[in-house]
Parts: sequence; C-alpha cells; structure tokens
Amino acid sequence: MHSVRGYLADFISLIFPQLCVACQESLIANEELLCTNCLYNLPFTNFHLNANNIVASQFWGKVPVKAAYALYYFTKGGKVQNMMHQFKYNGMQQIGNLLGTIAGKQLNQNLIFKSADVIIPVPLHKKRLWKRGFNQSACFADGLAQKLNATVEIDNLVRVVATKTQTHKSRFARFENMKQVFEVSRPDWLINKHVLLVDDIVTTGSTLEACATELLKVPGLTLSIATIAYAE
Ligand SMILES: [Zn+2]
Repeated sequence: MHSVRGYLADFISLIFPQLCVACQESLIANEELLCTNCLYNLPFTNFHLNANNIVASQFWGKVPVKAAYALYYFTKGGKVQNMMHQFKYNGMQQIGNLLGTIAGKQLNQNLIFKSADVIIPVPLHKKRLWKRGFNQSACFADGLAQKLNATVEIDNLVRVVATKTQTHKSRFARFENMKQVFEVSRPDWLINKHVLLVDDIVTTGSTLEACATELLKVPGLTLSIATIAYAE
C-alpha cells in the first residue's frame, strides 16, 4: 500500500525526475543516486582480490605499502567520470559517502584492509577547500568508516605550503620551494597503527606517495591505500 507521502514523492519525481549520477537515466523507486544497473555494473577493478594490482605497483620500490586498491576504473567520457564530476563540482557530497560504503563492503572481505585502525583522507589545499566547501576524500573516508572497524582522522595529516621569500631563488629552487608539503600534526596518535590513506582518483600516485612518506616516519606505522578510481 502506498502512503500519501509515497504518492506525493512519486508525483514530485514525475515532474522533477531524479537522475542517476553516473548514466543520467531516471531513477525509479528505492534507487538513490545510482540506478540499479550502475550500482552493479560500473567498472569495478576488484583490486581487493588481487594484491599485485596496478595501483599497488605504483608504490613498489618507493614506499612500503601493505595493500592498495581502487574501487573503479576511470575512463574519459565514461560513467565514472560523470559521477566524479557531479561529486566534486556539483557539491554532491553524498556520492562520496555512498562510494565509501560500496568500497568498504569490498575491503571488508580482505584481511589486510579489514585490519586498518585509522582512515586518513589526503588533505586539500586550504584555498581549494574554501572554494569547494568540502574535501571529497573525507566524504569517501566517512563512507568507508561505516563499513570498516576504523576511525577517520581528518586533521592529522595537513598540507603546508612553504612561504619563504622566492625573489632570490633560481627557477628550480622556486619550484622545489613551492612544492606542496605534507605534515603529520599528531604523530603520537598514530604510533603502531595501520593507516588506510584515501584519495579520490589515483593516476601516478605522486600525491599519495608524498603523504605516505610523511606518515611512514611515525614509529611502527603501517600503511595501505584506497581510492575511488584509478585513471591511466
Ligand atoms: Zn545509472
């Protein structure tokens, strides 16, 4: 039996149909954000089932990572790109949460990811955070935490930009000086912890590598990595 509220919701959706954030088809009753087809058929990597995956290989010989994962393959003009655009530029933070819960269910099947204690999102520039209003990796982290037995720490890893005077430096030195640097503000909270470092899209892995290098200075810390998508 339909309630009055149910009829009203159906009526409103006739006039303003909610669209799937990935394929833009109209959503039907009980579908939220993603249509059923996209929910099950977006290009999953299944990297949680394959330790020697392409994301993990980005860090070999650079930083010791226990396990690395991406939920989807990202292709130009594809559904995952549509969805990431809605998420990052149309302010749909709930997409990040949903993807975190989808990834969290998969990671729960993997003993390494399952043992993570703390989830840390890659921090955004203060300027960009102010502009966008939210950190997309933190939304993903919140969704993950709903499925994994781990807590999210958003303020421990911070992005600091060197502000020394640039005038008398060579071009290369300026470039080096301008490089974004990450810092751990409370290393004592992370001693002997298994940290799951998360980001939205991984390509070359250089940002994640810079974060990992800082985090791994903490005594006894071990590290795994999870992202929403992998883009070649
Ligand atoms: Zn869809």
